[in-house]
Amino acid sequence: MNKFEYLRKQMIDYQLAARGLRDRTVLKAVSAVPREAFVPADLVEFAYNDSPLPIAASQTISQPYIVALMTAALELKPEERVLEIGTGSGYAAAVLAEIAKEVYTIERHKILADTARIRLEELGYNNTQVLYGDGTLGWPEYAPFDAIVVAAGGPDVPQNLKQQLAIGGRLVIPVGTTMRTQKLLRVRRISEDEFHEENLGDVRFVPLIGAAGWEDETADKAVTEKIEASLPELIYQSSEHFASIDHVNLDNLLERIGDSRLVLLGEASHGTAEFYEMRARITQELIEKKGFTIVAAEADWPDAAHIDRYIHGTAPDPLLESRPFSRFPTWMWANHSVLEFTHWLKAHNDKIASFDKQVGFYGLDLYSLFHSMEVVLNYLDKVDPDTAEVARLRYGCLLPWASDPGMYSQVTITKQYKECEEDVLATLQDLLNKRLEYAWADGERFFNVEQNARLVTNAERYYRTMYYAENNSWNQRDQHMFETLQAVLAFRGPDSKAVVWEHNSHIGDARATQMSARGEFNIGQLARQEYDDAAYLIGFGTDHGTVAAASEWGGPMEVKQVQPSHIESYERVCHEVHTDNFLLPLRKPLQEITRTKLLAERLERAIGVIYRPETELQSHYFYASLPRQFDEYIWFDESRAVEPLTKETTKGVPDTYPFGL
Ligand code: SAH
Repeated sequence: MNKFEYLRKQMIDYQLAARGLRDRTVLKAVSAVPREAFVPADLVEFAYNDSPLPIAASQTISQPYIVALMTAALELKPEERVLEIGTGSGYAAAVLAEIAKEVYTIERHKILADTARIRLEELGYNNTQVLYGDGTLGWPEYAPFDAIVVAAGGPDVPQNLKQQLAIGGRLVIPVGTTMRTQKLLRVRRISEDEFHEENLGDVRFVPLIGAAGWEDETADKAVTEKIEASLPELIYQSSEHFASIDHVNLDNLLERIGDSRLVLLGEASHGTAEFYEMRARITQELIEKKGFTIVAAEADWPDAAHIDRYIHGTAPDPLLESRPFSRFPTWMWANHSVLEFTHWLKAHNDKIASFDKQVGFYGLDLYSLFHSMEVVLNYLDKVDPDTAEVARLRYGCLLPWASDPGMYSQVTITKQYKECEEDVLATLQDLLNKRLEYAWADGERFFNVEQNARLVTNAERYYRTMYYAENNSWNQRDQHMFETLQAVLAFRGPDSKAVVWEHNSHIGDARATQMSARGEFNIGQLARQEYDDAAYLIGFGTDHGTVAAASEWGGPMEVKQVQPSHIESYERVCHEVHTDNFLLPLRKPLQEITRTKLLAERLERAIGVIYRPETELQSHYFYASLPRQFDEYIWFDESRAVEPLTKETTKGVPDTYPFGL
């Protein structure tokens, strides 16, 4: 027996059992937890003293006896789920985790929450989850709980906590009329609205600070000095906090989205896993609970068609090239987060017999000029070889630039070469003229080919204007994306609803950003103008972490560190909010004052497929008014790079199909 084990045994005998605490389950749990791992390094020799000890943020790790007493009062059973308010060091959470099936614990000091999370993980307590936030609000994401324990003293029993108790559940909480002395109460939920309260005796805890607790000492001062709450505090009060993407409760978000026909989901970078995963989570609920059948992404049409065929259980189309998403930037769609989502979409569609009700996946972008040409030509070869020959001649005009379409824009400036505009338009026209003739055989396929022919005409114009009118080419791209979205909506019928996945810079209403001064619009603005409130625009943001991006166009993907946000940015304000992840409603704010205060323009960060931290301010920040740009903003304080699918992961090819890496 080492020194600490000996001290622990002594503690159990003399501090717990000797005081009459005989609950075998609790004694066994306490004897399994190394308390020395939860106290500051310079205090380990006092770890088993019969007293509370100081930890960071002027808080304390509770006296062992109190932890045991409260745990016993909870009457925990092995299959139960328990919520703790006041993680502190994480010690009590570990004791609870020895007994209960799952432990959820909330701490209002970030340093304590982060330290406890790492500590519990290192000690192997993988049935515990730590949330940084206000515990008086409870944790709706995981409610109801069989037991709730509050390790800090408040003025009352918070209503939220009572409501998050399961029927038969127990809530143990110190309650007192002053900040420092309390009575320990046990509240038992007998039925939906019947609660039974017992007094377990006098105790002394640190104060419970929060919405349903005591006011923060600093907030107290603010009231007496008549200083208004700061912007981060307002955001804190006006947002829904959550810990994990898998479990976040989206019911309120779905209610805010209401009957919208379009939900546009943004991203602050093309290489952040959380953005993809949260969009997948929201999209799944929109599909399952609101009947959305269209997922449209900032991807090229023919590449997305691979995913579409895969999720419909259709064989790969021989008209399509066999390696979708193989051009720069591959990680944008060929990544593990998207792969997992496509598997979900397939499983969802498999359960639905009618093709019309299944979800389709569509690409809105126009960088696939040459592959789209191929699709059109291959199709015509099959259905109408004569027209195919004419089309081949016409498209031939563009062939010299097959490997580098950007060059086309340069030669059209010098007028050395003939412009191809008329030729590509004529091909589209031919196709449309014969729509009836071709389409009766296979409407779905004709739609696909028609979209590719449209893409060729729009892409030709896009490249032609790229050099001499930069904003114009941006507009042409977003106009194309919007028209494609409209075409898909029309194709899927008058009741169809679409989720769109694109970068914030496309999704957020351009009129609320610096872009509009350059004459640029985007798909978000066009959607707002056309659909008004039936388009719900959601932006995403992050402060720091890692991101997958290249250093220049065409360069290799790197995992880069995202710089902490600029001091004058929206990101900085969100970073200062005392919780890590949140949903912030802006169209229908929980408090109007928060929206009003956010209106004044600030910097906002946009990372695309390129990230240049060295010149971040010039390369990646622009001015915007967040509440005018988005209907809602979703925040991840820290985020991580997407994981690209690599050649190795494709060894078991079926796993990564429909991605052809
Ligand atoms: N159970 C802890 C002791 C915690 S002391 C342990 O074993 O170490 C009480 C903790 O409650 C403090 O860390 C304090 O910061 C936290 N706290 C106070 N009010 C809170 C609130 N509203 N939400 C979450 N934590 C709170």
